[in-house]
This record gives sequence, structure tokens and C-alpha cells, in this order.
Amino acid sequence: MRETMRAVVFCGEGEWRIESHPPPQLHTEGDVLLKVERASICGTDLHILSVPPGHPATPGTILGHEYVATVVEVGSGVHHLRSGDRVVVDPNITCGICAYCRLGLSNMCENMTTLGIFRHGGLAEWNVAPAKAVHKISSQVPLDRATLAEPFSCVLHSFERSAFVPGESVAILGAGPIGLMFLMLYKAAGAYPICVVEPVEFRRHMAESLGADAALDPSVHDVPREIKERTRLGADIVIDAVGTLLPEAIRLVRRGGRIVLFGMNVHAARELNQYEATRSEITILGSYIQRTAFPKVVHILEAGLLPLEQLVTHRVELEAIGEGFRLLRAGEAVKVTVIP
Ligand SMILES: [Zn+2]
Ligand SMILES: [Zn+2]
Repeated sequence: MRETMRAVVFCGEGEWRIESHPPPQLHTEGDVLLKVERASICGTDLHILSVPPGHPATPGTILGHEYVATVVEVGSGVHHLRSGDRVVVDPNITCGICAYCRLGLSNMCENMTTLGIFRHGGLAEWNVAPAKAVHKISSQVPLDRATLAEPFSCVLHSFERSAFVPGESVAILGAGPIGLMFLMLYKAAGAYPICVVEPVEFRRHMAESLGADAALDPSVHDVPREIKERTRLGADIVIDAVGTLLPEAIRLVRRGGRIVLFGMNVHAARELNQYEATRSEITILGSYIQRTAFPKVVHILEAGLLPLEQLVTHRVELEAIGEGFRLLRAGEAVKVTVIP
């Protein structure tokens, strides 16, 4: 291992730098030292770097919470992993002992911290993580696919909450990487029709090429009418992958249908007609990160059931990550992966 490594560091409001850091060392006997093979940039990273920030983070922290890595050293208390294992990382570290963890609601943990946001993450050559946060994955899985394990785990958690049954119709609001992952998953699971609503043209084309039955432009189409025409009653399930569209979702879902709220925006205080939700017995399901999705995600990625790497439109070296941020801010990329 070299004396220094390059890392993308959050430096406080709106600022980041690529810095040389000493390679990290194991802190506890339960840690593993990882060589990062590939990472990806998440919308949350852009929120962290916005002015004012749309998501909190600790200044001085190495960013990156979506990454695939190889184990290079394990702490003395780690017996289920060894040097050379390929792993994906669940960056949300839960305590295991708070009331929520003990209720089985670990994503509501009162003491949660996150690698790449509050602790050093994977936009660097090396990273230290608790062994309990990593999941072994076959080294045969393409790196661009494996690096999407974390965002896909959140999508799979939402999918489980939607209680989907094959043959049901789904409307997906937003065709960024998350909306497109929902599309791929519901398509593979037997949803019909799947209508995607997205204002950006190249994302609508991407949705069509990934199997959307309709890709609607909300600035042109009368979306409620288009979805009613295709489903007669309205969609069985509506996914808000944007985070501000609950009033629209209520207009698109059928009576007795389910709405899953995935996207997050702390400023989403929209007015809505509560009567419609009551009168139509609409179930509204919040969905936050994941609890038990990772083993299933690893299985899906290893089996090649969903070629998530198709969502990666750009690949950059770590030193050129600024170009990745720019492409994403400009809406020119879907998913950008980073080679450390
Ligand atoms: Zn993320
Ligand atoms: Zn906890």
C-alpha cells in the first residue's frame, strides 16, 4: 500500500476537494480494510454539495456511499470474510440495540450513521468499514452493476412495501436512475402496463428502451387521462421517485391503490386534498433506505436478473469527478461511476 491515497472530501457548504490522505487503518477488531474497485455518484452527493445543502454531512468526510470493493485486511474479530473477497457495502450503520433496531426497524435506528456522509466513504482508493456493513458478492458480477447494489437495495425495499402482485399496473414518476431501477424491477416481476412520467427527453427514451409501456412528458401530455386510458381505473401502484409529487400521485392511483413515496425533499410541503385519499381508500407508504434487502440484491445481481449496468451512462477517473458532478447537475447523465 502506498503512503497516501487520493480521496474526494466534503469541505463544508458547497465545497469539495480531491485531497491526499494517509490510507485508513482498522479502528476496531470488527472492521475490514477495503480497496475500492468502483463507486458511483448519488443524487444525495449533489444535495450535500448544494448551497444551501439539501442533505446534511460532516465537513472533512470522504464522500461516496455507493461502492464495490475488495477486502484487503480483516480485524481479529472478523471470521466470515477474508482478504480477496469482493464485497458491496451497506453504508447505513445501525446500532442494533436501540428500541427501533430491536423492533426490527433498523432503518429507523436512533443512532444511525452513514459511510460517505458522516464517516469516510468510498470515493477514495481505500476505505475502512465495519464488517457487518459489507456483503460478499461474486467477483464475476460486472463492477458497474455491483456498484449500484446500495441504491437498488432501497428500490427493492420500496418494491416490497408496495405488496405488488404480477399483472398489476404501475406508474413511476421520475426516470432518473431510481425511477429506471423501479421500471426494470417491476417489468421483470410482471407489471403491466408500466407508465413512466418524466420531463427530460433522453430519460424518456431510456425508459422506453428499458421496457416502459408508455413514457409520458408531463409538459405535453394530460398524464391522468393517458394513465386512465391505459389502465381504465388508474394505476394500481404509483411510485414517487422525485419526492414532491404526492398530490399528482393521488390523481393517478386507482381507488384502493397504493402510493409509495421514495424520493426525498425536505421542502416538499405540498397542498393536497385529503378527502380524495379518504374517499378512495388510498394507501400511502413512506419508504426509507432498506432493512433486509441486501442478501436479495446480491442474489439478483449475481444471477444477472437485472442488468443495472445499462443505467451507467458515464465513467470517470476519481481525479475527474468534477466532470461527473457537472454531467449530473446538467441532467446529461443517468448514472456516473467513478474509478478510484
Ligand atoms: Zn445514495
Ligand atoms: Zn439502532
